[in-house]
Amino acid sequence: MAKFVLIGSGLAGGLLAAYLGRRGYDVDLYERRADPREGNIVGGRSINLALSTRGIHALEQLGIADEVLRHAIPMRGRMIHDKSGDLHFAPYDVDPKKCINSIGRAALNTTVIEAAQRYSNVRVHFNHRCTDVDLTEPFAYFETEEGQATAKGDAVIGVDGAFSAVRQSMQKKLGNFEYDESYLAHGYKELTIPPGQDGSWQMEKNALHIWPRKSFMMIALPNPDGSFTCTLFWEFEGPRSFAMTKTDDQVCDFFREEFPDAVPLMPTLLQDFKDNPTGSLVTIRCAPWFYVDKVALVGDAAHAVVPFYGQGMNAAFEDCVVLNECLEKFPSDRERAFAEYFVSRKENADALADLAIGNFIEMRDKTASRTFRAKKKLDHMLEAALPGVYLPLYTMVTFTRIPYAEAARRARRQDRIVYGTLIAAVILFASLLVHLMTR
Ligand SMILES: Cc1cc2nc3c(=O)[nH]c(=O)nc-3n(C[C@H](O)[C@H](O)[C@H](O)COP(=O)(O)OP(=O)(O)OC[C@H]3O[C@@H](n4cnc5c(N)ncnc54)[C@H](O)[C@@H]3O)c2cc1C
Repeated sequence: MAKFVLIGSGLAGGLLAAYLGRRGYDVDLYERRADPREGNIVGGRSINLALSTRGIHALEQLGIADEVLRHAIPMRGRMIHDKSGDLHFAPYDVDPKKCINSIGRAALNTTVIEAAQRYSNVRVHFNHRCTDVDLTEPFAYFETEEGQATAKGDAVIGVDGAFSAVRQSMQKKLGNFEYDESYLAHGYKELTIPPGQDGSWQMEKNALHIWPRKSFMMIALPNPDGSFTCTLFWEFEGPRSFAMTKTDDQVCDFFREEFPDAVPLMPTLLQDFKDNPTGSLVTIRCAPWFYVDKVALVGDAAHAVVPFYGQGMNAAFEDCVVLNECLEKFPSDRERAFAEYFVSRKENADALADLAIGNFIEMRDKTASRTFRAKKKLDHMLEAALPGVYLPLYTMVTFTRIPYAEAARRARRQDRIVYGTLIAAVILFASLLVHLMTR
């Protein structure tokens, strides 16, 4: 059996190692950080994430979905907090059972690594930072605590996240490699709402909370210990921005003005604001995601997207499912398997990147408006009236495995039909009215 060298044991790396291990391949998984089971895994990344249908499906294939979901908190809809403190709940779907799940990154990472380690043909090596990849051998080079190390496999797979060293090697060495990165003008900072005195949640537990404020927003996802992790998405620069909000008074004034109902629940606000890093939000598109039968990219390494559809990890997990299927389909032609994986995922990754940016505008700006809430209600009415025929875009992306690009196309088609019909009905009604009045 072939030997795979995987770089990065983040969310997708652990899962892919488990898939390849189950297929009987020899797998060496290298991670630059220490073992997450020794603590300190998060290192500036989001503490919790929304897991939905695509991700759950990938976990189910390995029999670990129940294990993961046991620690998850279902979120049934968006709880919108307006400036006056009024709350509006908007369910995600007409079916109240359909929810997204808040899960801890650390616990999920540990679960997927342990799933991989159940296969004796999978070995995990922590504290190995990949510095370069020789694409033709293929060889991976590492820095370790003891010095330098190398690993040779039949194929090297970069599952090493948005700033992938494997992708950088491809970029340097392949003449035809296309690469594009674009940063949002917004950064993000994580803050905390701790549990109440009795250890329970201080806001509605089964919701994703949003404070939409037009050009920026704060969100909060529940954690199993009764706390919420809040994330402020705000401009880096500008008259009101991270750059212009430095002193304690400026931070407090901003939060009291914009999020008055959250401030009393955030006793460590100032400390969190000072201590926690401000992260950047990048979209990365590249092509191809493979080099002959030697190297491939999976997850954020191939297609980092901004987090506003809650799909980056779900899409990375879906990559693992598709790559596994392609390896099954072409067991003795790995180049063909890599090529087919790339072709079937690329269009969808590009579509997701656009959807994720579009959803930022929807979350921070439109969720606050009555028109948006009316549109959501209309969506749900149509979904209930035309089951299986009309599916809102959010439902297709989050609660089905319809490929992202197809979901986007279908939503555009549906919108054309629904709005065309509505406009036609209004025109018909108006002409009827004029006709009756002039008779
Ligand atoms: C604020 C925020 C919120 C998010 N919320 C959601 C959400 O709700 N739902 C969702 O689906 N997605 C969400 N995402 C996206 C999600 O985090 C990523 O899509 C997901 O982590 C991608 O998994 P990955 O395994 O490809 O990369 P990563 O999880 O980044 O893992 C990469 C791994 O590679 C290791 N590594 C990196 N470089 C090297 C190297 N040179 N050598 C060895 N190892 C290396 C890293 O240490 C890491 O362990 C969010 C992202 C952000 C930033």
